[in-house]
Amino acid sequence: MLIDSHCHLDFPDFSADLPGVIARAKAAGVTGMLTISTRVAKADTYRAIAEAHPEVWHTIGTHPDGAAEEPDVPAETIAALATSSPRCVGIGEAGLDYHYPDAAPEAVQERVLRAHIAASREAGLPLVIHARDADDHMERVLADEMARAPFRAVLHCFSSGPRLAEAGVELGLYVSFSGIVTFRRSHALRDIARAVPLDRILVETDAPFLAPEPHRGRTNEPAYTADTARSLAGTLGLAREELARITTANFFRLFDKAAGTPPGAA
Ligand SMILES: [Zn+2]
Ligand SMILES: [Zn+2]
Repeated sequence: MLIDSHCHLDFPDFSADLPGVIARAKAAGVTGMLTISTRVAKADTYRAIAEAHPEVWHTIGTHPDGAAEEPDVPAETIAALATSSPRCVGIGEAGLDYHYPDAAPEAVQERVLRAHIAASREAGLPLVIHARDADDHMERVLADEMARAPFRAVLHCFSSGPRLAEAGVELGLYVSFSGIVTFRRSHALRDIARAVPLDRILVETDAPFLAPEPHRGRTNEPAYTADTARSLAGTLGLAREELARITTANFFRLFDKAAGTPPGAA
């Protein structure tokens, strides 16, 4: 049993055949999947997908690419949307992303991230953190907020440097690995994975993006969690079943609300 801890089932890539996507995931042993919000304004869409498919949970939040579109959503609004949806098990994804030249200003992204951290504390739900080309800024914000009051979180699709992974683990965060860890040239990322404590590791697809080997270049889908897990098990010197057992236990420890509504118990 594997859980895809991060996918985007609302994307148009999946609209033609979502039942088929979910059936292929289950056939590959991926029995649960967490579909991730990119805009608070679309909360109803995520909730509807999770309520239509008992294998799916969802989150609520604003992706940093949308920070300029949703710069001032109060933490209380995000928390209330999350706690009122039975299958909403997390906040986010939120974070900092300076990869593209048209990214929202740093101050706006930071404000939105801090609002999501506040929502995470208020709702008692973990935060899904997106960080890209923002290592130092992210480390500062996380350390500052954790010192203010604790919250639970995962650094998703980890592709930052070793220092942010180390800082995140020290702060009690989980680290989730996507198909990037299967790519031939990702030696540095595999070194990071070997340094993260086993009880903090999650696996994900980030579908429809970043298909793992041997599907690289195709539309990613939750079934391919199995390929990333197989590759990561090899990297860590674990049997596939052992990696599946560990990452599934980690998922339900972090997203503890999901443990109350397991796959099939919609
Ligand atoms: Zn992301
Ligand atoms: Zn994502």
